[in-house]
Amino acid sequence: MSKTLINTFSKKLIAWHGVSGRSGLPWQGNRDPYAVWVSEIMLQQTQVATVLERYPRFMKRFPTVKKLAAVDIDEVLAEWAGLGYYSRARNLHACAKQVMQEFSGKFPNDPIILEQLKGIGRSTAGAIAAFAFHERAPILDANVKRILARLFAIDGAIQEKTVNDRLWQLASDLLPTQPENMPVYTQALMDFGATWCTARKPVCISLEKKCPFAKECQANLSDQVLTLPKKVAKAKSPEFDCDMLLVRAGNFILLQKRPSKAIWGGLWSLPESAWRPKTEKSHKRAPALKELLTMTLPKENILGLAKSIKELKQGNQIKHIFTHRRLWMQIWEGRSSKALEFLGPDLKWVPLSQLGRYGLPQPIKILLQGLSLARGDDLKN
Ligand code: SF4
Repeated sequence: MSKTLINTFSKKLIAWHGVSGRSGLPWQGNRDPYAVWVSEIMLQQTQVATVLERYPRFMKRFPTVKKLAAVDIDEVLAEWAGLGYYSRARNLHACAKQVMQEFSGKFPNDPIILEQLKGIGRSTAGAIAAFAFHERAPILDANVKRILARLFAIDGAIQEKTVNDRLWQLASDLLPTQPENMPVYTQALMDFGATWCTARKPVCISLEKKCPFAKECQANLSDQVLTLPKKVAKAKSPEFDCDMLLVRAGNFILLQKRPSKAIWGGLWSLPESAWRPKTEKSHKRAPALKELLTMTLPKENILGLAKSIKELKQGNQIKHIFTHRRLWMQIWEGRSSKALEFLGPDLKWVPLSQLGRYGLPQPIKILLQGLSLARGDDLKN
C-alpha cells in the first residue's frame, strides 16, 4: 500500500493543485531566490493574511539582497515590527550580509550549502532550492509533518528524532522524479496542508470535500486522523512580571535598546526591570522612585534621572502572551524636567514624532498609541 502511494503521490498532488491549490499569492511563481527566501522566513510564524500585507511592503523597501545587507539592523527591525519572532529579522539581515560577502550576492543552489546560512533551516533550504533552482530537495514544515504522519500512520511524537528522521526519509521518497515539477509540487504540499489536511478540520472529517488520498491514507482508514500526528504534551507556560518606565520630557520619551539575544532582541522599548516569576504578592506594594529607577536603568543614569523626575504614577498593567511564557508588565508613568542630554548608546530620548523609525515590541507600540503618545501613522512610516 505504501509503495503505491509513494509512486503516485506527487502526480496526484500536482493534479489536486491544478484544481484546488492556492493561486495569486505575491510570492508564487517567483524564481528569484531572494524573494523566495524572504517569503519563506516571513511565513514561518505569521498568518498568510498578514504576510500578504507585509511582504510587498518589505520587498519594496528592501528589493534586493544587496539593499538589505547595506542597511542598518534598526531599519530592518522597524520594518519587521508587529510580525513577532524578531530573531527572524536579525537573521535575515545577517544572512543577507553573508550572501554578499561569501557568495558575491548570489544565493547558492545546493540545499546543503543554503542550510549553512544564518537562520535557514533544512526545510527552508529545501523550499528555496525547489522554488528558485528546481532542485529535488524536500521540505518538512509542521504542515508537511502532519500530512505524512497521517498518510503513513506514523506513531510516536514528531519531536522525537527517530520519528523526524523517518518523516524526512518519506519526504524525500515522495518527491517527483522530474526536477521541473519541484516548484508546483512544493507549493501543492504547502497548500494541501494549509487548506485541506488541516490540524483540526481536515476535509475527510468535515466531509466538505473528497480527499484524493482518502483510500490510501492510513490514518483515515484506521480512524486516527485527529489523533495524528502525536505530540509530546506541553507544560503550562510560566508567568512572569516586570516593571517598565514610561518617562516623558516634553515631546520626548525615554527608550532603551534591548540586548540582541533577549526576547524582542535589538528592538527599542521602555526601560524595564528583570523578569520575576509572578506571585500573588506581585505589585501589591508600589516601589519607591529610586528603587524603580535602580531596577530599570543602567547604574550611571540613575542619579541624573532621579533628580529630574518628581514622581512615578502607577499606570496600566499589560499582559503579553509569548509562545512559551506569559509576561505581565506594570507601567510606571513619570515626567522628567530635562531631555536632550546624552544618556548612552542604548538609552535615549526619542522625539514622539520619530517613533516610527524605531522597531518597538507590539504591546509597547499599542500602549503608546493608546496613550496617544504616537499616532498610528507615526508608527507605520
Ligand atoms: S484522508 Fe484526511 S488525513 Fe488523510 S490525507 Fe486526506 S485530508 Fe489528510
